[in-house]
Order: sequence, then C-alpha cells, then structure tokens
Amino acid sequence: MMENNSGTVYGFPSHLANMNKEKLVLVAGSGGFIGGHLVGALRAEGFELIRAVDQKPLADWYQAFDDVENHRLDLKDRDACQIAAKDAAVIYNLAADMGGMGFIELNKAACMLSVLINTHLLLAAEEAERFFFASSACVYNAEKQKDPNVTALKEEDAYPALPEDGYGWEKLFSERMCRHFREDFGLETRVARYHNVYGPYGTYDGGREKAPAAICRKVIAARLSGRHEIEIWGDGNQTRSFMYVDDCIKGTQMILNSDFVDPINLGSNELVSINQLVDVVEQIAGIKLKRTYNLSAPRGVSGRNSDNSLIQSIFHWEPSTKLRDGMEQTYRWIYDQIVTTHSIRAAV
Ligand code: NAD
Repeated sequence: MMENNSGTVYGFPSHLANMNKEKLVLVAGSGGFIGGHLVGALRAEGFELIRAVDQKPLADWYQAFDDVENHRLDLKDRDACQIAAKDAAVIYNLAADMGGMGFIELNKAACMLSVLINTHLLLAAEEAERFFFASSACVYNAEKQKDPNVTALKEEDAYPALPEDGYGWEKLFSERMCRHFREDFGLETRVARYHNVYGPYGTYDGGREKAPAAICRKVIAARLSGRHEIEIWGDGNQTRSFMYVDDCIKGTQMILNSDFVDPINLGSNELVSINQLVDVVEQIAGIKLKRTYNLSAPRGVSGRNSDNSLIQSIFHWEPSTKLRDGMEQTYRWIYDQIVTTHSIRAAV
C-alpha cells in the first residue's frame, strides 16, 4: 500500500475486496484465454455470483465451469450487453476479436469493430461499481518501436498517437472512452495495457495464435513428425516481452481493486528476441531444429518491452514469472492437447 501526495491510498484496498464476493461479477470474453483464467481465479477466491459471457458456443470455450452462469451472446449488440451487464457490480471486458500478428494485420476492420463491445458494455454499466478494460501494448506509438534494442515503453509513450493500425487504434480509442465515462458519468473505470500474455488454455493453432503458442506448436510438430525444421516469421531478431497468464490475472485484480485510474502497463520486462524464444522451447523439448526465416510473414514492430516503473511504484509488484518456467507449462499443455485431441498433422 502506498499513499500519493493527495493522500489517496493505492495498492490492495478496498471497500470492494470484501463486498465483491457476494455481488455479481461479469466476465466478458470468458470463453477466451485470459477470460477463462479470470473466471477460474474468481471462483478460487470465493466469488459466489459470476456471469461468464462469450459469443462462442460453450463447447469451444477454453475453460467453462458448471457453477457459474454461462451465456452465449454477441456483445457487439447493445441489447446483448444490457442482458450481460444486468445487476453486475463489476464488469471485466476481456472480449475482443483478436489474435496474433497474423490475424491483426489482415483483419483490421474486424479488430476495430470490437469498439462496439466496449462502447455497449460501458453504456450498459450504469449500475456497475467498477469496469475493467483490457487494453494492449499495441496502443504505443510505432515510431518508438523501430529498434530491436528497445527502450521500454512508458505509459506516456502512447501519445502523440500512432498505434498499431486497426487493433491498436481501437484499444486507444476505447481507453479514452473509459476515461470519459469515468470523468463525465462517474463510472469507476480501470485500464491495463497487457503486453503479450501466454500460458495454457489459449489459442495455439488456426491463425489467431501468438508467437509463444505458435512456436510451441511448431516445435512439438517437429518433434512428433521427426522433421527437425522450423519456420520463423521475420528474421527472428524482433524483440518482445511475454507475461505469464497467472501474473496477468493477479495484476488485473490489483488494478481493478485499486484507486489508480489511468491506463497502466501490465507486462513482463524480460526482453527476448523471437530466436531466443525458440531457443527456450527447443530446450524444453530437448531438440535442436534447422531454422528458416519467412521474411514476408507478418512480424509486427521491431522491438517492444514494458517499462514497469509505474506499476512498481504504485503496487510494489510487477509480473515476475520467468519465461522459461511459464513456457514449460505452456508447452506441456499444448503437447497434451496435440497428442490427445489432435493429429500430428493438425499441429504442423
Ligand atoms: P481470446 O481471443 O482468447 O479471448 C477473447 C474472447 O472474446 C474470445 O473467446 C471471443 O470469442 C470473445 N469475443 C470476441 N468477440 C465477441 C463478441 N462480439 N461477443 C462476445 N464475445 C466475444 O483473447 P485473450 O488473449 O484472452 O485476450 C483477452 C483481452 O485481452 C482482449 O481484449 C485482448 O485484446 C486483450 N489483450 C490480450 C493480449 C494477449 O497477449 N493475449 C495482449 C494484449 C491485450
């Protein structure tokens, strides 16, 4: 806990910490990767009334729980948001049409249409005490991400605005919409800028997967097929940081329950190149692969890292799961999925 100059207490308050467990919590996007983990964490913490909403059929959710209210709704629709948000004291918006670079570079309009989800959820949140929006490191100005030897991104580096085209513009706009709903209507909005989240129970094939899961899948395919080769998107020198999902959930809860209202980085600052990420997965798998580089594949910005000064100063905490440890869990889960539910061909 920490006080700022005006005496506001940040950290783990709050009046909500006790109240929330009997009040209704909405998780939008609960059929997805982070939403599924969040519902699991809320259950484990003893929340009694959880409403889980996603547009996918329940059978396709990464994690679904019988003891929560599960609904299939398209939250781009305003009426659907009214149904989803009814009586909810806390709303987490983790619903978005999104994926890795391969998806967001080719589906800019679809990504921007997620603005309807956040806008209609905000409008439906009249009764809510807290509203959380999952923003992204893709809001940051592209000019500041040209060098693989990156200077980590501070919160103020989002402006002047030049975010990732499509997906990043939607996130930046929705962040501001949250701010103005707070300023104009008194809705207690909180915004975290997630930096590359990874872990089990997420997308690893089909075109929306991100680098950590895609690399696990490719290494597993090479191992199972005996063809010891891997294709890497770009030259492999592009750098990123990757946050394990448990840290993401913990940080999300801290931010939601705090009095800190501005968008804040939630990411690891363990910077690695994509080549180093492949090294890590090869070590876990116990193999060495011949690498080929697809220079025409989507690769995103050259380098990006999270500056964690703000989250450290406010919460005395930052994501700390080591990449090797988190990737071990992720690899094992994807391996089990592929050998139990998929053929080796599906993995390639
Ligand atoms: P995900 O794709 O696994 O989950 C998103 C879920 O939203 C999906 O299950 C999808 O079906 C659902 N959804 C999409 N459109 C919907 C609609 N119209 N109505 C209802 N549900 C809908 O993604 P995730 O990795 O869990 O990401 C969760 C949130 O965090 C998203 O807002 C995403 O933009 C943000 N984020 C994620 C990362 C990351 O690395 N995973 C990084 C930055 C920001």
